[in-house]
Amino acid sequence: MKIIRLKPGKERSLQRHHPWVFDGAIAKGGADAGETVRVDSAEGQFLAWGAYSPSSKIRVRAWSFDQAQRIDAAFFRETLRRALALRERMGIASNGLRLVHGESDGLPGLVVDRYGNTLVAQFGAAGVERWKDVIADALVELTGCPRLYERSDASSRALEGLPEVTGWLRGDGATAFELQEHGWRLGLDIALGHKTGYYLDQRDSRLALFEYTKRLKFAQVLNCFSYTGGFSVAALAGGAGHVTSIDSSGPALEQARSNLLLNGLDPAQATFIDGDVNASLRQFVAEGRQFDAIVLDPPKLAPTAAHAERAARAYKDINRLAFKLLPPGGVLFTFSCSGGIGVELFHKIVASAGLDAGVDGAILQRLGGACDHPMTINFPEGEYLKGLVVMKKL
Ligand code: SAH
Repeated sequence: MKIIRLKPGKERSLQRHHPWVFDGAIAKGGADAGETVRVDSAEGQFLAWGAYSPSSKIRVRAWSFDQAQRIDAAFFRETLRRALALRERMGIASNGLRLVHGESDGLPGLVVDRYGNTLVAQFGAAGVERWKDVIADALVELTGCPRLYERSDASSRALEGLPEVTGWLRGDGATAFELQEHGWRLGLDIALGHKTGYYLDQRDSRLALFEYTKRLKFAQVLNCFSYTGGFSVAALAGGAGHVTSIDSSGPALEQARSNLLLNGLDPAQATFIDGDVNASLRQFVAEGRQFDAIVLDPPKLAPTAAHAERAARAYKDINRLAFKLLPPGGVLFTFSCSGGIGVELFHKIVASAGLDAGVDGAILQRLGGACDHPMTINFPEGEYLKGLVVMKKL
């Protein structure tokens, strides 16, 4: 068993059961990609078992803080079983849900989503890459789902020195799927869609938009970064008069159009703009347009804290433009899914965007990722998705 020895004083975060060891914390030791190592303090005290990743700044990701734990097939099966049992206990009423959410489920780098009886997995770190076969077998056995598709094509794989891989790991067949969420039908494709096919993490926020629309009777809704129109369906189902959806992905907008039809909604109440959100917002401001509700759900602008400053400017810009498009009493649903931007910083960015736009707002609600994407006590980085519902003051 290879031992990684930390520098003096670097044992604190593992002692708090945070799963990451950065390269700068290591005094000596090394191993192959994904190999199980024992991590010791400078004094030689056991801290954790983890997976070594020679090319990543996150050099070790912990599997267990229990010295008696063996890291073997039984360990992965049991950890997966517990992640699945947690979802079962959460009682989520959708045929699409996240079964494994990486570090928050004790399996650093692994994401598994379930769509009906098909699983979609992302192997995002050297450790889970090495145990891929064991994990795939256990997933199929524990869920009873015969099909498992791999979507290891996130750009973060490069940080781990891993190539992009996609395709069937177990079973095969069609990759189109019809998600049922809050009684709506949403078509997606696990091979061609973003991430594993859909943004399951925004499930609760789509329901929130539906409910606000019913209550506040929004006439004009603007859905920025709409992807396949989940928020657009929510607004129209809630009785919105018209929804304008903007996305830079043509195929996503095609899917959005067909999702409207799938739900019996009237295409005459929808406009789709294939373009850049920033440019469209500027154009709407120039034209003096107004929207009663605006959704801003941009892609990850700051993957890590190092990108936070530049990303903060980009977030502020779109939020400032959106505030200008709201009439008094209009509502902004604004989100950030950047791990590098915390809840407080996001709040500050939105506040300063409002200030620049000359707008004061009442925060009606804070939103976050759905519960099958848990944030855990030991891994606050799990709280990557945050949102604010802000009403422009009258
Ligand atoms: N709200 C969506 C998820 C949005 S993900 C949902 O609930 O499903 C972010 C989306 O932003 C992606 O669909 C991506 O294609 C789009 N996008 C990224 N940059 C963009 C830009 N500059 N202008 C418009 N759309 C953009």
